[in-house]
Amino acid sequence: MAKRSQGINTLCAHAGELEDKQFKGAVSPLYMSTSYAFEDVEVKRYPRYFNTPNQQALAQKIAALEHGEAALIFGSGMAAVSSSLLAFLHKGDHVVLQKTLYGGTSNLVTEEFKKFGIDFTFARDLSAEAFEKEIRKNTKGIYIETPSNPLLSITDIKAIAGLAKKHGLVSMIDNTFASPVNQNPIDMGIDVVIHSATKYMGGHSDILAGAVVSSEEKIDTIFQLAKNFGGSLSDYTVWLLERSIKTMGLRVKAQNENAGRMAEFLEQHELVEKVYYPGLKSHPDHELAKSQMKGFGGMLSFELKGLDSAIFMKYLKLIKPSMSLAGVESTILSPAKTSHALLSPEEREEQGIKDGLLRFSVGIEEPEDLIADIEEALEETRKDMVDVRI
Ligand SMILES: *Cc1c(COP(=O)(O)O)cnc(C)c1O
Repeated sequence: MAKRSQGINTLCAHAGELEDKQFKGAVSPLYMSTSYAFEDVEVKRYPRYFNTPNQQALAQKIAALEHGEAALIFGSGMAAVSSSLLAFLHKGDHVVLQKTLYGGTSNLVTEEFKKFGIDFTFARDLSAEAFEKEIRKNTKGIYIETPSNPLLSITDIKAIAGLAKKHGLVSMIDNTFASPVNQNPIDMGIDVVIHSATKYMGGHSDILAGAVVSSEEKIDTIFQLAKNFGGSLSDYTVWLLERSIKTMGLRVKAQNENAGRMAEFLEQHELVEKVYYPGLKSHPDHELAKSQMKGFGGMLSFELKGLDSAIFMKYLKLIKPSMSLAGVESTILSPAKTSHALLSPEEREEQGIKDGLLRFSVGIEEPEDLIADIEEALEETRKDMVDVRI
């Protein structure tokens, strides 16, 4: 009989848990040892080898959540991104990447790859044709991120996975914005799924971590490089991350729901110019998002109509200005001033990132309270702007 696969909240709560054989405690015991016996044992355990009991248990949980065979846990999302890319790209190789990538990933590629003799091209747009056009004889990998930051554009995961298979390339995706609750790229043919666990997996703005999920074989390739680079996560934080993930399904579903409500509220508001949210019918990639996502996520962006977004942000009380995202608390930022400040104004313009654009990471608060906060801040900002004009 085929094994019944469990649902997301069951996997979040139970997959990979360690049994407390000694005391029968309810949660995974925490093993902090950096030194393990090496005689008469099968596995030589050491935290930097990614094989302590807690690391292996959490890797099992995350692999189950992403429907992959195996996983590795890292000290940051960027350690997961860099280890994955550098494991499959060697001197003389070429990689095609999506243009609208997380800032740290763009920096890694543009600032470091030359040093390693790795060539790269950013595809002109998100279409599979644009990616295919850039494939050369020495291309070895293809790298995407969807939904993208900050405009929540959607890349066709199946089309990219198919393209990679056709040309014998390793396909990689940064699945951070969707989280495994909303999107499982391995089911669509992607080889390597990367997460900044700092975001939805951690979910409480208090953990820096990363994860990679793939086949046993590809995880071993990444492991061979990663053990030398030394980016593993402390077992204490591994344990804390396991605890956080237990509620990830509940949190992310609440955030999906809230973000949908916020997007609809903002879209009909007379002081809002434009809302970017894949769950809105007005989003150009709505149908594609519907076909590959189980939920539309907790991130959205918007532009105000004739109001100064910096003043608006100052009037928000509940929604806090913050660099990071995906916590249970709602946060907001100006991409032009923070995450995309390093781009030139022309590059931002080209990517459609207006100076007044605001990126909203929607938390788990009651939607009515979030709406009240936004309404008050919009009203105060409008009054200010009128005063300035007088
Ligand atoms: C935050 C983030 C990263 C980097 O993760 P860190 O944990 O900060 O190293 C990578 N990709 C995306 C989409 C992110 O949001």
